[in-house]
Amino acid sequence: MSRTSLKERIKQGPFILDGAMGTQLITRGIQVGACNEYLNIDSADIISEIHRAYLLAGCDAVITNTFGANKYTLARHGFTEDAARINKAGAQIARQAAGEEKYVLGDIGPSGDFLEPLGALNTDDLRDAFAAQAEALLTGGVDGFIIETMTALDETLVAIEAAKSIAGDLPVLVSMSFDKAGDSFKTMMGVGVEAAVSKIIPLNVDAVGFNCGTLSLDQYVALSEEFVTAVRALSDDVAISAEPNAGKPELIDDKAVYKVSPENFAAEAKKIYSAGVRIIGGCCGTSPAHIEAMAKKIRMKQ
Ligand SMILES: [Zn+2]
Repeated sequence: MSRTSLKERIKQGPFILDGAMGTQLITRGIQVGACNEYLNIDSADIISEIHRAYLLAGCDAVITNTFGANKYTLARHGFTEDAARINKAGAQIARQAAGEEKYVLGDIGPSGDFLEPLGALNTDDLRDAFAAQAEALLTGGVDGFIIETMTALDETLVAIEAAKSIAGDLPVLVSMSFDKAGDSFKTMMGVGVEAAVSKIIPLNVDAVGFNCGTLSLDQYVALSEEFVTAVRALSDDVAISAEPNAGKPELIDDKAVYKVSPENFAAEAKKIYSAGVRIIGGCCGTSPAHIEAMAKKIRMKQ
């Protein structure tokens, strides 16, 4: 294969990721609360169509529809036994859409529970579950892994360890979800940026960053600056990633609504890029139109 390996490619930047999967599924009539990941088995065409829309919009990589496909989140829908085939199918759908030119990142999300003593999870079981997910994603043909929307540092570190045990030479990207906490930013579990990156970077990840959360876009820009400072104090090498939401969610009729337009999203994403973030995509509320506007703006020569 002639193309640059993903590990090398993400160091070059800019590297554009896709936007929201969940938001696009809702647009296509999938019920909120359904098992989105089971669509990899029974509605592969819908998932494929969303990947293709993002690729047409100009992203460099698509992220598999496997965010909630670890055995714990699947158990809530009664699909524990199907974990391996849901992940493998998710990777295959994305691979087929992306072809050999574009890249596929295998998505690994949180378990939805906490490690002992706070929750019921045992470290070895959790590591095994994430490793099994990563292995099925690898079988389906991913180019690397992205661990996303993490809020607890211990779970994040276990997920990294598991993904790296499977990844071999493939890159592992890690992203936590931050909210505003006074003058600074913290995850829901109270983890600050410096605390997070000081534990994550020694595990030899290829990128560290943030996604989702409840920030406004100017707060994501401030978070980017804080992130770049914290990461560069420890490493010249590791890339920094950002997948902001389309602004702060507003609750309308009990539904989270994201109102930032593609143009405004692109303008703020450019500031995030200028702060030193080289891997940029979108999380909740973003659409192919957001990614298209952003990709154009970021790739535009200044
Ligand atoms: Zn999100």
